[in-house]
Amino acid sequence: MAGSRFAYVRSFELPDPVLPGVFMVVRIDGKGFHGFSQAHEFEKPNDAVALELMNHAARHVCQELRGDVTLAFGESDEYSFLLKKSCKLYNRRESKIVTHIVSLFTSAYVFYWPQYFPKKALQGPPSFDGRLVVYPGVQEVKDYFAWRQADTHINNLYNTTFWSLVLLSNPPLSERQAHETLKGTVSSQKNEILFSKFAINYERLPAMFRKGTTVVLAPTRPSSKVRKSKRRKAHPRELRTLHVDIIGSAFWEEPEAGAKAAARAEGGEERSKSESCRGAGVEDGLEHRKRLYIPIPSSVQADAAPFPPWEAPDRTQGTAGLGRWALRH
Ligand SMILES: [Mg+2]
Repeated sequence: MAGSRFAYVRSFELPDPVLPGVFMVVRIDGKGFHGFSQAHEFEKPNDAVALELMNHAARHVCQELRGDVTLAFGESDEYSFLLKKSCKLYNRRESKIVTHIVSLFTSAYVFYWPQYFPKKALQGPPSFDGRLVVYPGVQEVKDYFAWRQADTHINNLYNTTFWSLVLLSNPPLSERQAHETLKGTVSSQKNEILFSKFAINYERLPAMFRKGTTVVLAPTRPSSKVRKSKRRKAHPRELRTLHVDIIGSAFWEEPEAGAKAAARAEGGEERSKSESCRGAGVEDGLEHRKRLYIPIPSSVQADAAPFPPWEAPDRTQGTAGLGRWALRH
């Protein structure tokens, strides 16, 4: 219909290309998820199964846009996706890229819902909004993700303390009283409230709650084999789901050199954590899980896995340097 008298309306479409040669980050955010989480009785302050569904939807996006999306980071009801500098998706048209990612994520969230909540029907269609921001260089990209992870920590510490005051205090506090109690407190004071009032060691809470989730396209393990190969295109890649610190440099730099020590420290710390989880034993496992706010859904119990996926050691160990693969062009 190019020649019809109506064709002039096409000229109203405005071009919206993103600058070439810059990183793009698309951040999607749940619309009205406060009400959504209430309607579906998500655990407070964190629902591990709901977070894992978010992670699954994010992996779907990363898989579908493999080669363009190289890293994703999620917390609560938001996820950020990093697209590499040389990305040519939709000729870098902003509206197409944002809507495609939002749509992929939302449909995956709904599609995989029954897998995570087999006994809980969706009460309504969830939706997400999205925005695209460009970053000129590697430092800004690292700082962007550091900003999101710092936000995860601040929110999680507040929410964990808040809901402990509401749910575990004796007598229970109202939400208003809990807000009042926390007004003006700094991190150390919240940690102290958690520990002295509720015997909760914040650092022992699941890493997924404290550090959010990072999905990265990294060389297939064992990486040593890959390093020996000179043909970059032959490098097999796999999506790794991680709950690790991405604010420090260890995640982004070659494990060799200065980061080696950090990797060792990270491995030691995480090993002792997983050992402490194991050490909880069967007899006090339920109490331990309740204390850590880990829900025990029947779907997870049924497959008799020793740990739910968010506690798998490969999500926290051997992760030093993986971020650098996401920053390649
Ligand atoms: Mg939201």
